Amino acid sequence: MIRRALEWLFPRKCILCRDLLAKEETDLCRRCRTDQPEYHYGKKKVPHVADLTAVWRYEGQVRKSLHRYKFGSARHYAAAYGRLMAMRILRDLPEADIVTWVPVSRQRLRRRGFDQVELLAKAVSPELGISAEGLLEKIRNNRANSGLKTSAERRANVLGAYRAVRPELLRGKRVLLLDDIVTTGATASECARVLLTAGAEEVIFAAVAAASTTSSK
Ligand SMILES: [Zn+2]
Repeated sequence: MIRRALEWLFPRKCILCRDLLAKEETDLCRRCRTDQPEYHYGKKKVPHVADLTAVWRYEGQVRKSLHRYKFGSARHYAAAYGRLMAMRILRDLPEADIVTWVPVSRQRLRRRGFDQVELLAKAVSPELGISAEGLLEKIRNNRANSGLKTSAERRANVLGAYRAVRPELLRGKRVLLLDDIVTTGATASECARVLLTAGAEEVIFAAVAAASTTSSK
């Protein structure tokens, strides 16, 4: 009864096209489940990252969905993204010892009120049965990489922007690093380099969406 009332008040919608979901559908409607722009595992290689995967290609409805998540009211997408990411991680990547995420700067956290990637990590980790810990801190408030065109500019922009915290938690571990979107991989690569320098055995990576290197972030 309560569940039905809640569903009437807050109808469940597809996280991509926002159509109403049928009773047996979760997260995605049947059409999006078939037509979603799946990321093809193995397409991307990023320095310092041993292996990586993503749920989708960053385009069309996926781009809009992530935009609603980051800047709009769709914070609850974290649970759905987390389930979809966990499935992809279990299929494509070796087993990790600990989950962490690419952190936002303190200024951005204050402005936005939440760290959208931390929420993802907290949704993914119970699905994988390993804990999510903040192992990185953003120490330099660099420009958004989305404003930069070449991968060299992006690499330079993130260099020295992060540092490892609580290195005792990652020493000798295979760390699963998460982000919402990966484009050139400059951010993922720099974070992986920092984690490896702090003693991680290996860094693997997963994102909700992977963009071709010519589009944003
Ligand atoms: Zn849909």
